[in-house]
Amino acid sequence: MTDILQIAPRDKAEILAQALPYIRKFHGKTMVIKYGGNAMTDPELQADFAEDIVLLKLVGMNPVVVHGGGPQIEQALNRLGKKGEFIQGMRVTDAETMEVVEWVLAGEVQQDIVGLINQAGGKAVGLTGRDGGLIRARKLKMIDSKDPTKEHDVGQVGDIVEIDPSVVKALQDDQFIPVISPIGFGEANESYNINADVVAGKLATVLKAEKLVLLTNTPGVLDKQGKLLTDLSAQEIDGLFADGTISGGMLPKISGALDAARSGVNSVHIIDGRVPHSMLLEILTEQAYGTMIRSR
Ligand code: ADP
Ligand code: MG
Repeated sequence: MTDILQIAPRDKAEILAQALPYIRKFHGKTMVIKYGGNAMTDPELQADFAEDIVLLKLVGMNPVVVHGGGPQIEQALNRLGKKGEFIQGMRVTDAETMEVVEWVLAGEVQQDIVGLINQAGGKAVGLTGRDGGLIRARKLKMIDSKDPTKEHDVGQVGDIVEIDPSVVKALQDDQFIPVISPIGFGEANESYNINADVVAGKLATVLKAEKLVLLTNTPGVLDKQGKLLTDLSAQEIDGLFADGTISGGMLPKISGALDAARSGVNSVHIIDGRVPHSMLLEILTEQAYGTMIRSR
């Protein structure tokens, strides 16, 4: 990354001026940002991210943060002598793992993000799916991707039944920045671990967001040779699923992204959260970053 101090003043002015049409276009619009677990382990990147969120809010947009926490959950499990297991990109969640997930996401990770945003001058409020009845869920029925007669038991992994965005809207109207942990609750008030990309995708749809930006730990979606795919249609995605190019955590990410794109979210991007200020560059400059997901 070029150091901002090395850029000539003229170029700096040009970059700033370029942001104006985007600030105008996105004024009052909701931006759902998924902050990936793997892109949020570096303290400097965390601080940059918090500043970017506050900047978006101050220029009149409505950022909503949904966070993950894969590495942090993995660390906590390791301390208990457990190791995470994944099936088709989803973390197998037994009762003990659920406790760890809830504690790490809602306790540690969410509160870190809230603290950093507040330090940067924003007013962040942490929520889980339980708060204000935000995310109702049920146990996910996971069908094997190759053999539709086979079903996997992934424990307390949740499937979203309904999102009630009223608590998010109320916070936005009061100038707060919602920071959401992807935990849902069921009919008996039981907790569910939901993939954060899936929550972000659905939330973007329900909030009629202008944009969904998924920050992750790769430059975007890569092809079999490791080359960045800058633009993907639903049809191309079907092909990548079928030939195994997309696997692991990228499976729910693409599903969440495609869902949002198909349900009216204007632009959906998977970008590299390891690049400082990548989200700001995506939203406020004409340059395209990462992979754009199109509904057709
Ligand atoms: P996050 O915390 O951002 O959700 P995940 O580990 O869940 O991170 O998902 C991102 C990971 O998906 C990448 O680090 C990579 O290992 C994996 N992945 C699988 N297929 C692809 C692909 N085609 N392009 C990019 N990443 C992929
Ligand atoms: Mg993930």
